[in-house]
Amino acid sequence: MNCNFCGKEIDNKIILKGKSANICEGCVMEAYKTLDLIKNTSVNSKGVRLFTPAQIKRHLDEYVVGQEKAKKVLSVAVYNHYKRVLMGNVNDLVKKLNLEEVELPKSNVLMVGPTGSGKTYLASTLAKILNVPFSISDATSLTEAGYVGEDVENILLRLIQAANWDLEYAQIGICYIDEIDKIARKSADNPSITRDVSGEGVQQALLKILEGTIANVPPQGGRKHPHQQFIQFDTTNVLFIAGGAFSGIEDIVKNRIKTSSLGFRVSPSKYEEIDYLSFVDNEDLLKYGFIPEFVGRFPVIVTLSKLTLQELEDILVKPKNSIIKQYQKLLALDGIKLTVDEEAIRLIARKAYESKTGARALKSIVENMLLDIMFELPNASGISEVIISKEVIVENKKPIMK
Ligand code: ADP
Repeated sequence: MNCNFCGKEIDNKIILKGKSANICEGCVMEAYKTLDLIKNTSVNSKGVRLFTPAQIKRHLDEYVVGQEKAKKVLSVAVYNHYKRVLMGNVNDLVKKLNLEEVELPKSNVLMVGPTGSGKTYLASTLAKILNVPFSISDATSLTEAGYVGEDVENILLRLIQAANWDLEYAQIGICYIDEIDKIARKSADNPSITRDVSGEGVQQALLKILEGTIANVPPQGGRKHPHQQFIQFDTTNVLFIAGGAFSGIEDIVKNRIKTSSLGFRVSPSKYEEIDYLSFVDNEDLLKYGFIPEFVGRFPVIVTLSKLTLQELEDILVKPKNSIIKQYQKLLALDGIKLTVDEEAIRLIARKAYESKTGARALKSIVENMLLDIMFELPNASGISEVIISKEVIVENKKPIMK
């Protein structure tokens, strides 16, 4: 007997029998989970959903491979942030305990992890789960007001655009600032001998919007000029997530640990085995070249580790939106079934592992591998299947086509 829902054989499983259809245990559980999610979710008038941390994590697990600690910390930070934004002081217990006046600080998040470990992806997936606008900006394009480059308010303009010019909606969005490590003071041990317009100056300029202010956003973008009409943007409820690779910070952490009391307990031979990145704290960020006020605006620090070979393999095939599934869909739209065999998957992952760009390399390797096929096949007739084997990757052979 087969389940009419998923189509699988269900001989040994408990099933629900209907008049003309049967459902397997797995499908019943899926339906239950969905109901559970809907029941326990608050939705505001913009359709923004407040999930519990466990629900957020469960959603993230569907898309993001590994990075367990980061997913957990982020789920809690994001839940706390949106609880504050969406619920305000409506809770009876808050009133009863006289806590209405207590202000909850923002839980802006700083993500530290190698390139291609999933920082941007985690932030954008979170925004998708919660149904809030999301924008990405690059810290390297910013300068402090009055200098050549972008004013920091342009970050907010991107969020307004992502919200389709709905200001109220934009004001509860998530703003991802990439390459944040590049605005560290250039010479950390030598503060401000000359003015540092691209580093410390930008940190200073960002402080206000990170904390919560009414910012004047130039509607056309670019530089602000005095006679322009500005959009007044309240950043109080925007969640800022900043990310960067922070190359070299491991040495700072290592030095701190070696000279601290913790260091004495570690035998010297073990030093090389420690994942120093996972111990990054405020003190290390100051040494790296950030000003204390800036570090203070990011109460949550999340570290991501370099993806393992197995995780890279999993990223190719397992997530809901995995890279291979994306290409399978693309080719299926041309009526062609794409199969990438296990050995080929392993080799693609290895190539990416050896590159310096982690999971980012996966996509370009697969894209290169399939370029000719995607170019030629829409014109070819009589082909319904393409099989990628190890030889395609190692020897650059043509894939098997049937
Ligand atoms: P980072 O911001 O850390 O440099 P990205 O988030 O831009 O890296 O990762 C690039 C791409 O690689 C993502 O768009 C995603 O498709 C994939 N990716 C990266 N890390 C993961 C992960 N942990 N799980 C699933 N996919 C991932």
